[in-house]
Amino acid sequence: MSGTRELLMLENFIDGKFLPCHSYIDSYDPSTGEVYCKVPNSGKEEIEAAVEAAREAFPSWSSCSPHERSQVLNRLADLLEQSLEDLAQAESKDQAGLISPWNLPLYLLTWKIAPAIAAGNTVIAKPSELTSVTAWMLCKLLNKAGVPPGVVNIVFGTGPKVGEALVSHPEVPLISFTGSQPTAERITQLSAPFCKKLSLELGGKNPAIIFEDANLDECIPATVRSSFTNQGEICLCTSRIFVQKSIYNEFLKRFVEATRKWKVSIPSDPSASMGALISKAHLEKVRSYIKKACAEGAKILCGEGVDRLSLPPRNQAGYFMLPTVITDIKDESCCMQEEIFGPVTCVVPFDSEEEVIRRANNVKYGLAATVWSGNVGRIHRVAQKLQSGLVWTNCWLIRELNLPFGGMKYSGIGREGAKDSHDFFTEIKTITVKY
Ligand code: NAD
Repeated sequence: MSGTRELLMLENFIDGKFLPCHSYIDSYDPSTGEVYCKVPNSGKEEIEAAVEAAREAFPSWSSCSPHERSQVLNRLADLLEQSLEDLAQAESKDQAGLISPWNLPLYLLTWKIAPAIAAGNTVIAKPSELTSVTAWMLCKLLNKAGVPPGVVNIVFGTGPKVGEALVSHPEVPLISFTGSQPTAERITQLSAPFCKKLSLELGGKNPAIIFEDANLDECIPATVRSSFTNQGEICLCTSRIFVQKSIYNEFLKRFVEATRKWKVSIPSDPSASMGALISKAHLEKVRSYIKKACAEGAKILCGEGVDRLSLPPRNQAGYFMLPTVITDIKDESCCMQEEIFGPVTCVVPFDSEEEVIRRANNVKYGLAATVWSGNVGRIHRVAQKLQSGLVWTNCWLIRELNLPFGGMKYSGIGREGAKDSHDFFTEIKTITVKY
């Protein structure tokens, strides 16, 4: 810690009150590797208190009219927007030391909380122990917006301790989980004895399929973004790129050139395209995949181990790595099968439509895919056959929020937007097309 900045101490938010905890865990600034905040290490006791508060608040909140609830939510949305604008201004004055470039924690948390409370539920949320600050800041706005005590309770801590206490609590009937597939497996086991309703939004091993008639001027920058945005730490990021043989060499050359221009830098650098990864353990895990690929005889064309990353002295211990492109890798390799969730993407050639569909589907996940082609018929043929909840064509990350969101296979169950039947929605695929 630099000594000039006080450690931020987070508190649980239960029944509309900020409550200290008996023990705390360290949270690290990914850009420096320094401890910058203490996160409550909550457990069963805090979950009991939060369940009681949520139970007490339920009768009156659930009997409010939808109009009354929407007024509270709109006030909250206005406050949130104002706070984000203030932060953006502070950042542009270079005074924002506590905000990491990864802003998905707030996005995913609000995405879960808002529809749940709009429908009259009361909730207990447990944000990731690695990124708890934005959730704690949100708690301050909940009170200001007039969300009644107990409607939203936020309890901080680790998955095995407080996460499991929440999942195993008999009075919590529904669990909405976003995270990794192994954790989902554990949550499913823990909630089975209580027949809890589950919504699971899990990982992906998302393919980009690039046909010879694709517009490479659009496809290459978009595929660099789809692979490396947010350090590749978005469940929807591309991590397998299939390129038709006739354009493979040209694509690879231009893709590597574009990747090398993707700047890795510190949060206060406005020209940065990519920041630090979320944690030291995660950085090591991502690097271990690259080592395994090398051991299997794959080639690293740019990034980790090939190019040099230069950082200011204060950030040398940060969790940075360069965006990395791997080729000459087999489909069976763990880099082509497992979710790496980092700035690493594999590029491989293919011959025919049938072949690429089979290979793209040859993973346990089925979250998102992109198809690049100038042939509308081919786009629809291929998109329909991909085992993927979401298929973008000639674009990436264009979202239609009215459509269900979610994956197939090990990428999850219970799509956002689903009303009654999971079966019905698993038949629907979201296809976004841009010609
Ligand atoms: P993770 O599974 O390690 O943790 C997710 C959350 O679960 C954290 O809050 C963690 O504390 C908690 N947790 C861990 N063990 C638990 C347990 N035994 N019981 C209860 N809770 C427990 O995942 P992560 O590394 O934080 O997030 C990355 C993963 O999330 C990736 O797989 C990514 O693809 C996925 N993700 C999916 C979506 C989607 O919408 N499909 C969106 C974002 C992230």
